[in-house]
Amino acid sequence: MRINRIDVYQAELPYNGGTYVLSGGREYTSFDATVVRVTTACGIAGFGESTPFGPNYIAAHAAGVRAGIAEVAPQLIGMDPRQTDRVYDAMDQALCGHAHAKTALDVACWDILGKSTEMPCWMLLGGSTGCRMPTISSIYAGTPENMRARVAEHRAQGYKGHSVKIGALDSEGGPALDAARIEAALADREAGEFFLVDANGGLTAESALRMLNLLPDNLDFVLEAPCASWRETLSLRKRCSLPIMLDELAQTDADVIHGVVTDACDGIGLKISKSGGLTTARRQRDIAKAAGMTLSVQDTVGSTIAFAAIAHLGQTVPPRYLRCILDCRDMVTRQLATFDAPVIDGGVIAPDAPGLGIVVDVDSLGQPVASFGV
Ligand SMILES: [Mg+2]
Repeated sequence: MRINRIDVYQAELPYNGGTYVLSGGREYTSFDATVVRVTTACGIAGFGESTPFGPNYIAAHAAGVRAGIAEVAPQLIGMDPRQTDRVYDAMDQALCGHAHAKTALDVACWDILGKSTEMPCWMLLGGSTGCRMPTISSIYAGTPENMRARVAEHRAQGYKGHSVKIGALDSEGGPALDAARIEAALADREAGEFFLVDANGGLTAESALRMLNLLPDNLDFVLEAPCASWRETLSLRKRCSLPIMLDELAQTDADVIHGVVTDACDGIGLKISKSGGLTTARRQRDIAKAAGMTLSVQDTVGSTIAFAAIAHLGQTVPPRYLRCILDCRDMVTRQLATFDAPVIDGGVIAPDAPGLGIVVDVDSLGQPVASFGV
């Protein structure tokens, strides 16, 4: 089996909640998605997506996804897409880093591997736990009462987990505002609910400690990505009794290993396009699991195509380690594909259909912005 054509598409995915506000004054209203279709000489087509969360979330941006694909795609023509690690070697040989650019191509190869073997990706990634995976809401930073109301809205929709964004600059209200946001978001907590409080690297160790000192005792949550650097995170870790999950700091395999070796965290927010696709996310899943860390399986954002990859990887993580998955379909108003994985009782089970199990609406993507091969 040989790859003989790669088509690259661009799609705008509007955020479905107006303006998404993150720490540091970052705001997002729409996301620039890149979708690839990898086609084999025998006519099997696989799809993958990479959608950065804007250019100032991590070191990834949408134009860079497409520029990176242009660097590596010509090297993949003629390769066997089923040999996913060998395809990854070729991508690494052609381009250092730029995991977000490699993601869409890698996921498309996994889709082909599944279709060619008539097995779902979860089977090829190790097998399904058979458990419904809890989805987590994404509650952007706002006023405490507004965040409380949005948690309630998502609770009413069946969400059992909530990712609550904080990280107010001093000029915006600082630690006092963040402490009030946490108290409000957790105020109506119900049994069985799970809260991540996510600063997206927006706190200093100083502001994090001030915020934590303002909180009442016995609030049950995991602090995610408090600080932007390893030094700050490790310093806070020594002085913070809360469990800590890494996200933006844990991008490469080496980052995850560093998190284990330095005992910087208790869990990892694993995002498919942050790690570089299913080949790398699978490996990071195993490193984290071997270290006894919990995982939240997500992506930066994305359509149903990105969500399918999340669902297939998440389905292979034992419930003891799987905190939640992100249903990124719920964050955007445009889906690009259908996927038989409804949210029932606040959770999702990845379907049995081969590959990613998606049907992509190729017509909705328009003409390719780039093509490689025949
Ligand atoms: Mg996060």
